[in-house]
Amino acid sequence: MGKRDYYEVLGVPRQAGEDEIKKSYRQLALKFHPDRNPGDKEAEENFKEAAEAYEVLHDSQKRQLYDAYGHEGLRGSGFSGFRGFEDIFSSFGDIFQDFFSFGGFAGQTRQRSAERPGDDLLVTLHLSFEEAIFGTEKDVDLNTMLACPQCGGSGAEPGTKLTTCPACQGSGQVVQSQGFFRISTSCARCQGTGRVLVSPCKQCQGQGRIRQKRTVQVKVPAGVDSGTRLRLRGEGESGYRGGVTGDLYVRVEVATHPNIERDGDNLYTKISISFLQAILGDTVALPTLDGEKTLNISPGTQPGEVVQFSSEGVPRLRGYGRGDLFVEVEVRIPKQLTPRQEELLKEFMELEKEREKHKGKRWPWNRHKQHDKDPMSSVQPEANPSWD
Ligand SMILES: [Zn+2]
Ligand SMILES: [Zn+2]
Repeated sequence: MGKRDYYEVLGVPRQAGEDEIKKSYRQLALKFHPDRNPGDKEAEENFKEAAEAYEVLHDSQKRQLYDAYGHEGLRGSGFSGFRGFEDIFSSFGDIFQDFFSFGGFAGQTRQRSAERPGDDLLVTLHLSFEEAIFGTEKDVDLNTMLACPQCGGSGAEPGTKLTTCPACQGSGQVVQSQGFFRISTSCARCQGTGRVLVSPCKQCQGQGRIRQKRTVQVKVPAGVDSGTRLRLRGEGESGYRGGVTGDLYVRVEVATHPNIERDGDNLYTKISISFLQAILGDTVALPTLDGEKTLNISPGTQPGEVVQFSSEGVPRLRGYGRGDLFVEVEVRIPKQLTPRQEELLKEFMELEKEREKHKGKRWPWNRHKQHDKDPMSSVQPEANPSWD
């Protein structure tokens, strides 16, 4: 098939100036651009033809050759036209770049650019028992992808823009023939977006982000527990080429306490008192997370008895108020006594035996014999609780 006259292709007179040639070519390139005519073979041919005509006519040397000897003259000079779109786009990249800053195309370009959201990050934050209960502020060090300061995240070297991918001619798909089959795959060069950077940012190699160290201050609310996940919106990995920034998830891990156990919003602790304090009652100091508290041991307190302090537990993470504090009383029995102590306790034991004799009448298994008429009389509360 014979080649058409280049002036005819561009629709310009033979004496046309450089500007006229360029303007005409622009119009044709826009009209037959593969982005606007996907899969249209005729448009593709027109696009290539216009590019070839422009290539010759905007170059004064080639234009002279063509004017003097026509297509044959160019062939003799080694010019053989374009092999494909890749050639065209790499030759006229700057012109296309201008095209795409026009209204209609610019929007499309932006939409199809390679933006991708950044990943969410998950870090573990170790807290002390007290920090988890009362809340704290902690610095978390991250080593993550952050927006490139050189290109501001766009991935393009400052002053440059995206242009049509030469490998797929902007379709984002590459068709390969294998025997009878034509296989269409996502274009590897532009990752299916149809656009590539003319000059990728040197600092981030076009990613729009680089790995950087960063410290995030995390406000930990009171009442968190092991496994609580805090979400910090927009504090994750920066997006690829200006895409949305991911979130940062902070997973809390809480250390145990040597003396206090936690179950949800309630706290459990133990206090050890002597058997005499348990019998006679006393006032003891109870160390708590809020400071020292006074615990009144009532006379006759039993081992394992639990004292409950309302609203002295963990502040509720959702909602207000606090859980409770439970204090279990442990009673210490002395393993060794002085002779004098032993003497006194033996005397106490004799007194207790005496008392048991009198009290014995009231025991339920004696009750039926002696108090048949009024069984309730046997369950009168005693003024002094027995020690046993
Ligand atoms: Zn950059
Ligand atoms: Zn491509």
